[in-house]
Amino acid sequence: MLLPMSIPASTKSFIRNAVTKVGGIYIHVPFCQKRCIYCDFYSTTCGLEWKRSYISALKREMRLRRPEIDFSRVPSLYIGGGTPSQLPPDLLIELFQAVQDNYTLTEDAEVTIEVNPDDVTPSLIDALHQTPVNRISMGVQTFEDEMLRFLNRRHTSEQALQAVQLFRDAGYNNISLDLIYGLPGQTFEAWTCDVQQLLKLGVPHLSAYALSYENGTPLYKMLQEGKVSEVPDELSWRMYEYLMDEAAAWGYEHYEISNFAKPGMRARHNSSYWDGSPYLGLGPGAHSYDGKNVRRSNNTSLEEYVSATADVPHQVEVLSREEQYDEMIMTRLRTASGLRLPALTPEQEDYCLQMAEQHLRCGNLLRDGDTLRLSRKGIFISNSVISDLMC
Ligand code: SF4
Repeated sequence: MLLPMSIPASTKSFIRNAVTKVGGIYIHVPFCQKRCIYCDFYSTTCGLEWKRSYISALKREMRLRRPEIDFSRVPSLYIGGGTPSQLPPDLLIELFQAVQDNYTLTEDAEVTIEVNPDDVTPSLIDALHQTPVNRISMGVQTFEDEMLRFLNRRHTSEQALQAVQLFRDAGYNNISLDLIYGLPGQTFEAWTCDVQQLLKLGVPHLSAYALSYENGTPLYKMLQEGKVSEVPDELSWRMYEYLMDEAAAWGYEHYEISNFAKPGMRARHNSSYWDGSPYLGLGPGAHSYDGKNVRRSNNTSLEEYVSATADVPHQVEVLSREEQYDEMIMTRLRTASGLRLPALTPEQEDYCLQMAEQHLRCGNLLRDGDTLRLSRKGIFISNSVISDLMC
């Protein structure tokens, strides 16, 4: 059920439902220099004046929403986008100053910023040195320059390699790199080169996503017009299987369907999304969750965001018992830790086990005491296994 967020009772319920388990803070920076053809994340290509207005509005949102959940000790902060590295150094520093004025990060807080490889310059790194950032997330997507150009990415493979080196030289070793597989025309051999190139870099964390054709993107239009075609499922699975095998051989733990980490280097912030912790999302298009049954989504409009005089326009969704159950199935089964059955009510557990029976029988799901998890075979058809277990 979606409620317009001008209803004050909804906000009260958000506060009332807050639980003591603390996740983290996500800040959405909605700026990109240009748009990649596959992307449906909210961002704009607005210029400097808008960036300044955004930072002012962000400070206002932080002040207004400070009491919403007990975030007095914040274990993770994630600055995503969009492209946070498109903020000029002075505004980046101002953003982190505002966080520190309003919240207290724990001493060992994980503080991540997403960057684009071609934004990584000595001046960006100098600015980051003045902030608590200790983890870098960088979208490489592929090391094939021709494919990068086709995707309308701004960087080259050489710039991605240089960016990793610049960060390391500056003492930032906690780096996560993203790849995309199943790109139009991508061969299995091209994918193995991408994976090997990435693994050789030895970064502690990597994420790999199957390309999806999102309605409204230029790539989706190209698909509709027959200008590109999706890679066959068999090829996509082969690519994913290759990644799983190689990542394991290089010492990575496959801890979530799309995420791999060296021991002890799992993304703490993202993990809190999968374990049901509350989180506060700030900025246009950001989502928040009270850790129980209330979700809030800020509207995806920079204009509305900067011109708001009180709380920013948003919507609140109150999850029913069934929706809470579905969320638990969707998030927990994506992880190697799996779904803990005692987290369900007795009725939900009965239903879940009944729905899981066929998948347990044919080995798509494994049961280990009180825990259900996807088997290696089940990971390949995770969407259908998960949807079979949902209400
Ligand atoms: S840089 Fe990132 S957020 Fe911006 S359009 Fe490309 S993929 Fe989307």
